[in-house]
Amino acid sequence: MRGSSAGEQEKLPLSFARTLSWVSLVLVLCTSLGLSVLIANSARETLLTRQQDFARLLVVNLNHQIFQRFTLPTVLAYGRIALRQPVQYERLEQVVQSVTHGLQVQRLRIYDFNRVVAYSTDRAELGRAGLAPRKLDITLYGARPQFEILSRLPAWQAPFRLPLEPGTYTLRVLYPLRGDMSLPNAHSAPAMGVLELTQDITGDYEQVVAFQWLIVGMCLLSSVLLFTMLLLLIRRVERILAHRMQETRRLEQELHSNERLTSMGRVVASIAHEIRNPLGIIRSSAELLLRRVDKADKSTGRILGAIFDESVRLSQTVNDFLDYARPRQPRRDLVDVNLVLDQAMAFLGSEFRTNDVEVVRSLPQEFLTLGDKDLLYRAFYNILVNARQAMAGPGSIRIDGAREGDMLLVRFQDSGPGFPPEHIGQMLDPFFTTKDDGTGLGLPIVSSIITSHGGEIALENAPEGGALVIVRLPAAPRMPEGTEKAPAQEDA
Ligand code: ADP
Repeated sequence: MRGSSAGEQEKLPLSFARTLSWVSLVLVLCTSLGLSVLIANSARETLLTRQQDFARLLVVNLNHQIFQRFTLPTVLAYGRIALRQPVQYERLEQVVQSVTHGLQVQRLRIYDFNRVVAYSTDRAELGRAGLAPRKLDITLYGARPQFEILSRLPAWQAPFRLPLEPGTYTLRVLYPLRGDMSLPNAHSAPAMGVLELTQDITGDYEQVVAFQWLIVGMCLLSSVLLFTMLLLLIRRVERILAHRMQETRRLEQELHSNERLTSMGRVVASIAHEIRNPLGIIRSSAELLLRRVDKADKSTGRILGAIFDESVRLSQTVNDFLDYARPRQPRRDLVDVNLVLDQAMAFLGSEFRTNDVEVVRSLPQEFLTLGDKDLLYRAFYNILVNARQAMAGPGSIRIDGAREGDMLLVRFQDSGPGFPPEHIGQMLDPFFTTKDDGTGLGLPIVSSIITSHGGEIALENAPEGGALVIVRLPAAPRMPEGTEKAPAQEDA
């Protein structure tokens, strides 16, 4: 129940952000598509207005030119207009060509009052009836120009049919033909005929469609970019959140285990405290009785010896418990690591010699740290005793020291079997032991001493075999005069 609500809490803000980003992507896409259609429509309208203005100018000019250069001279020369006569047709053709030359005019027709083609750029159409568009009468009788876009393709299909075939979009102009427009009342005069001009505007239309694609493409690109950035941001936040939650859970667990350990430590400490004094009495009494017992009484001697040995071991265990359960704050004296190792070797030397264990030391002469020499002695002692116990016979222990920036590095490497790889992660856990008579507190005590000095401990197996305990301690800032220094030396 607790787990599921925690999971929901973890997912809620991010899933909301994800949904929000998807919704915003869709919104941005829709808006940009709508915008692109609006912009494209406005561009199309502008294009049409431009084309219409241009066509209007063209037909007004044509009307003027035809009247000035064809109608007047022809009426004067022949009395009437008869375009079926090749001379007249050629003349009009010349006028039309000179005005429309170089412009995108697809076709030009002139209808007379009977809606018959009086002139066409396609000579074969001359004299044909039935070609006039239905709206011709509006221009003919109403004298109103008309502009119309003729398309062979629905507007929505055009963007998907690029490149467009020539003639897909045309502009048709129907314009009333009048006489001299410079005369007063010329605009109200009846039309003499209708001029039909058809222009191919496919190229311009194609440009508008391409422009529309450009807008859509740009909008798509920018929204996809924005969305990707948003997603990346969410992923990053997700990772940070997940990391923080993991860290919080780890700290919570650590806190719980520390609370458990602290309360257990308090119980253990009070029991150990109660045991320590009677145990001391048992040990000293056994020692006293051992001295007094008759040498001939071997069995009593053995029993007393066992009582003495066990009480010594038990008091060591009780001391371990107390050291771990109630660690004391280290002093901050200037301590020479060499001297501390000397002290440990002095205590363990005979045991090492008996077991044929060689200790080789290689440490710099000035190897000073700020700390508590008794606690450091305890830490080094535990490491060395562990190494000796692991070898269970002849072997060697190498102790190397080096400076690493502002830290002192001390490596203890033995020739034993090394840490069991499957348990190497548990070695620093309190009460973890592989020994029948172990307490599992030796290394945790070492670790707590080293960390209370601001240092670190690492356990490894050396590539050439054997356990490797690496201790890092903060180096003392400077070497005051008169400090005792221990030379690097070899012990046996
Ligand atoms: P204890 O010595 O009471 O078992 P420690 O905390 O000192 O408790 O050690 C825990 C375990 O670590 C030991 O039981 C042993 O398995 C392993 N260990 C410690 N030092 C060494 C070493 N030098 N070589 C191999 N194993 C070791």
